[in-house]
Amino acid sequence: MSTQPVLLIRDSRFSLHLENMPHLETPKRLRAFEEILSDPSLSGRTQEISPRIATTEELAWVHTREHIQRVAGSATRPFTSFDLDTQATENSYDVARLAAGGVFSLLDEIWNGRGKRGFACVRPPGHHAEPGKAMGFCLFNNVALGARYLMEQYSAQRIMIIDIDVHHGNGTQAAFYETDKVLFVSTHQFPGYPGTGNYGEIGKGKGEGYTVNIPLSKGVGDRDFARIIYFLINPLAQMYQPEIILVSCGFDLYNRDRLGGMAVTPEGYGLITFFLTEIAERTCNGRIAFIMEGGYSLRGIRECGLAVMQTLCGLPLIKAKVIDRIVGSTGGAQGLSFLRKVLEVHKKHWKSFSGI
Ligand SMILES: [Zn+2]
Repeated sequence: MSTQPVLLIRDSRFSLHLENMPHLETPKRLRAFEEILSDPSLSGRTQEISPRIATTEELAWVHTREHIQRVAGSATRPFTSFDLDTQATENSYDVARLAAGGVFSLLDEIWNGRGKRGFACVRPPGHHAEPGKAMGFCLFNNVALGARYLMEQYSAQRIMIIDIDVHHGNGTQAAFYETDKVLFVSTHQFPGYPGTGNYGEIGKGKGEGYTVNIPLSKGVGDRDFARIIYFLINPLAQMYQPEIILVSCGFDLYNRDRLGGMAVTPEGYGLITFFLTEIAERTCNGRIAFIMEGGYSLRGIRECGLAVMQTLCGLPLIKAKVIDRIVGSTGGAQGLSFLRKVLEVHKKHWKSFSGI
C-alpha cells in the first residue's frame, strides 16, 4: 500500500493544442482524464505539481535543431501540417514544450524522494516523435526527453521505459537504440502503425539487447497482458535493476478504442498498473512515472484512467485471487506462445531468459 500521495501533472493549457479542430487527438481526451480526478475514491490521495516549459537546449537532448525549428515555426501560423496525421495550431509549440517540461517537473519530485509514483496527464503525446521528425500526433518525445533529463540532471545510469501504448514507440526506440543506459521495452499490436517494432529490432552497438520489442497480434486481453508483464518484463527489470521506471501509458489497449484492436478492459489496466508498480517496488524503491500517450475512446480514457489512478493510489482494486491466478499460471513465459520468439531472440543478452 502506497502511503505517499500520487504526484500529478495536469494543466488546462494542455487543451490549447488543436483547440477547436476536429482531430482524433482532441483536447477532450485531456478533459476526460481530468474528470477522473474528482472521483471520491481519489480524494486526498493525489498531489498536483506545476509543469514548467522545456527549453530549446533541453529539447535538443533528443531532437535535431532543424526539427525544433520546424515545430517552433508553427507558432506563427494558425495551422501547420507535418504529415497526414500530425498537425499543430499556433499554441502547439508552447504546449508541447510544457508537456516535456511537465515530465521534467514530475521526475524532479520523484527523483528527490517527494513521492514515488506519478502520472503526467500531458498532450500532445510523444512516443512517435523521432529525433528529426514529428509524426503520429507527436511533436516532441516527452518520455525520451524525460529519460535524457534524468541522465543530464542527475547522472542516471539505468532507466527502464515500458511502452504499453497499442502502437510501437518508434521515436523512443530511435532515441536510445545505441545506449545501454535506457532499457526500452514495448508491447504493441503488430503489424500496425507505424510499422516498426518487430522482434529483430534489438538495439545496436552498446545498445544491443537494450531494446526489447514484444509484437502482438490483435485481440490480446487483460490476463495475457498481465502475464507478459509478470513473466517477461518483470525478470528483465530484475536483471537490469533500473533506477526508475517510466511508463509510456496509452489508453488505446482498451477494447473499444477507435484505433487499437486489443481487448483490454478497465480492470485489465488496473492489473497492468498493479504488476508495473510491483516491479518498481522490487527494483527501484517504487519509483515509477506514467506519462500519457494515446487513447482514442473518451470512455476508455475515463474508465481505464480511473483504474490506473486508483491502483497507483494503492486502492485494492484487484482481487488477490485474480493476481494469484496470473502468478500461478503454468508454463510461465514459455507457456505464452507469443513470447517464445522474444525469449529466443533475447536469451543471449539476458541470462535468466535462457533458463526460462
Ligand atoms: Zn497509440
